[in-house]
Amino acid sequence: MPVGETRNRLPRHHVGKKLLTVLLTLLFFGLSMAITLNLKHVGEDRARAQNHLQSFITEVTVQEGFEYQAIGGRSPLQEVREELAASRRRAGDHLAEAVPRGLPAGVADQLAELTNRYSRIVDEEVRLLSLGQNEAAMELDETQVDPTFDEVSTLLASTSAQLEIQARNTQSLSDVGVLLTMLLSLIVVSVVQSRRRREEVRNQTEREGEARYRTLIDQSSDLVMVLDRTGRADFASPSVERLLAPVDQGHLDAVEAFAIPSPIDFVAAVDPLDRARFSTALQTAAPGSASSGEFRVTGRHGTSTFQVSVQDLTAEPSVGGLVLNAHDVTERLALQSEMEHRALHDALTGLPNRALLADRFDQALRGAERAGTRVGLLLLDLDRFKEVNDTFGHHHGDLLLCQIGLRLAGALRGVDTIARLGGDEFAVLLRDVHRLEDATKVATALLAALTSPFHIEGVEMDVEASVGVVISGEHGHDAITLMQRADVAMYAAKAQHVGVFAYEPGVDGHSATKLAMAGELRRALEGNELVLYYQPKVSMDTAEVVGVEALVRWQHPERGLLFPDDFIPLAENTGLINPLTAYVLDAALARARAWLDAGRPLQVAVNLSARNLHDERFAELVARLLAAHGVPAALLQLEVTESAIMIDPVRARAMLGQLSALGVRISIDDFGAGYTSLGQLTTMPISELKIDRSFVMMMTQDPSNALIVSSVVDLGHNLGLTLVAEGVETEEALTALAGMDCDVAQGYHLCRPIPAEAFDIWCAGRTITPMTSREHPSAPVGSSPGG
Ligand code: C2E
Ligand code: CA
Ligand code: CA
Repeated sequence: MPVGETRNRLPRHHVGKKLLTVLLTLLFFGLSMAITLNLKHVGEDRARAQNHLQSFITEVTVQEGFEYQAIGGRSPLQEVREELAASRRRAGDHLAEAVPRGLPAGVADQLAELTNRYSRIVDEEVRLLSLGQNEAAMELDETQVDPTFDEVSTLLASTSAQLEIQARNTQSLSDVGVLLTMLLSLIVVSVVQSRRRREEVRNQTEREGEARYRTLIDQSSDLVMVLDRTGRADFASPSVERLLAPVDQGHLDAVEAFAIPSPIDFVAAVDPLDRARFSTALQTAAPGSASSGEFRVTGRHGTSTFQVSVQDLTAEPSVGGLVLNAHDVTERLALQSEMEHRALHDALTGLPNRALLADRFDQALRGAERAGTRVGLLLLDLDRFKEVNDTFGHHHGDLLLCQIGLRLAGALRGVDTIARLGGDEFAVLLRDVHRLEDATKVATALLAALTSPFHIEGVEMDVEASVGVVISGEHGHDAITLMQRADVAMYAAKAQHVGVFAYEPGVDGHSATKLAMAGELRRALEGNELVLYYQPKVSMDTAEVVGVEALVRWQHPERGLLFPDDFIPLAENTGLINPLTAYVLDAALARARAWLDAGRPLQVAVNLSARNLHDERFAELVARLLAAHGVPAALLQLEVTESAIMIDPVRARAMLGQLSALGVRISIDDFGAGYTSLGQLTTMPISELKIDRSFVMMMTQDPSNALIVSSVVDLGHNLGLTLVAEGVETEEALTALAGMDCDVAQGYHLCRPIPAEAFDIWCAGRTITPMTSREHPSAPVGSSPGG
């Protein structure tokens, strides 16, 4: 039934009820009035009866008076007879009047009988008097007349008293009746009034409420329908029309929509996949228990999802069907899934994040356990990614990360999950792997996918990465353990420069220590825990100190003095190498300045890492520090290993070109260890070649090493380079090197690396004689705090 009809419906049962109430009230009111009036009437009768009785008593007393006059002989007997007769008549009349007014008939009869008896005795007395029998008359008077009169008087007195009480009682009863009636009328009036007021308020509320509901239903986007169990609607809110009407009827206004021309088949609009569920909802809705669910409904603007609730109001006469309420939740669901997506995905690359990975990892582990397979986890961390950010800015860094994510994802199977854990760290979850090799193969393939250069807004970028590999069962059973071990394996891959590293139990402690150290090293750089030791480079010809090599040490607050091998690789893998080099350069130039100020100019050599060569702003840093300390560029020497140059010879050559242009001298360190041909170095702006200490140290025992050293010295000299032999530990080696025409010697035999102050003391204490002579002073090896 359309909602509109309810507006005109009158509450018929209310009319009947009202009428009945009025009638009953009137009846009750009338009755109580009648009773009250009647009571009043009765009271008045009683009073009248009493008056008649009083008159009757008076008459009897009158008769007694005449009888007295007769016996006293004061009145003639005839006159007495006449007066007595008249009085007796009046008394009879009064008695007759009193009976209908409430004098009990029995009392009246008794009075009549008594007075008759009295009259007969008086008449006998009068007859005796008239006969002159005065004595007999006197006796009769004493024995009968007087007692009878007393009897009559007593009866009359009590009767009169009774009548008076009755009259009074009836009067007060009637008074109470009047009061009660008044009170009742008051109650009736107020009840009737309040009821009318209530009725008015209810009617108004109903009118307003209905108007409000109508407006709500008209305006609401919620669908409201009254259906039968087959889904046929015989009432539908305008929103249903707006949703389902063909496009050209979309302007239907609310009033039209209320009058549905043909029943709406709402079930047909429900998505076929949801239809069965929807029908079940209609079937199962019962009074008092609404059935509900989410259903997709296709309207003229496409498919939306509705939160539907169906209530059975068949028993409700004003409804008479199932009431369907549907609220469009499409946007809410979309927002919800958007939020869920955001919570589980990395904002930059759109890849799953750590949370989603953890979730899928748990699932995969459970699935693998059931299926008897294994789950592989790869942890991939880009090498030197920080340099990309530092060099090109975060914008390029972000774009690069996105492209890397795409490439990595492209190299995987659909069942595998690639996630970005943050920064330059990615993780790959491999389902259904059987052996460790399966996982390491994928890891290698991922690295291969990264080998070709990336092009980010016109800049070509090369990316390298390190991957740690673990497999469930073999390396752990739960996600947390496996994640930790993949991390350990990844760090091992980085430290060992091997690209891919599968977890081994032995690497744990080592790796954990390194991780802890990275944080400590960062603090060390800020807290000046790094100190420089200096090792002299001594001329073979003049035995003079031609320069010093600055070698860094870490004065660790707990672990004592740490050597470069303990922390330089860590610095190289954690991006700390650039600040470390800057730190060393700054300290070394400060010292060079101090020596300059002391009147003893000394060339200071500082070691570089490969990463410093790839830092575009490195030459700029060197120039700035030279200027800051006021040290001539020629007093600074930079030692670069041939392996560092060979990582990216083009970039290295460019950087070395910039540095030598500043006037800084370049020295090739550890020469011979990298098996690079000298020819490759001829194009580099270098001035010095340091023969790797392993050759120098073995030289005296192994003739082939001696041959290598002498050939390198010859070749270097041919290229116009200064030749330095490091690792000179013995006098024997020193002598051999002198025979090979080597220019400079460096080694424990001469001096261990020592702090600057110790170096100054060492210098002050030496007597300079040519190294080639047998009498050259031995370096204060024992007193050296280094090595
Ligand atoms: P390096 O540049 O080849 O430095 C020479 C290393 O040989 C030093 O070890 C020095 O103590 C050691 N040495 C000197 N004479 C002898 C000797 O007669 N016998 C033996 N067995 N060794 C000798 P140290 O100080 O432990 O440095 C090791 C490496 O650490 C250095 O090798 C260098 O590559 C690196 N390093 C040191 N300081 C720095 C630095 O400030 N920056 C960078 N990037 N690397 C540094
Ligand atoms: Ca060196
Ligand atoms: Ca060296």
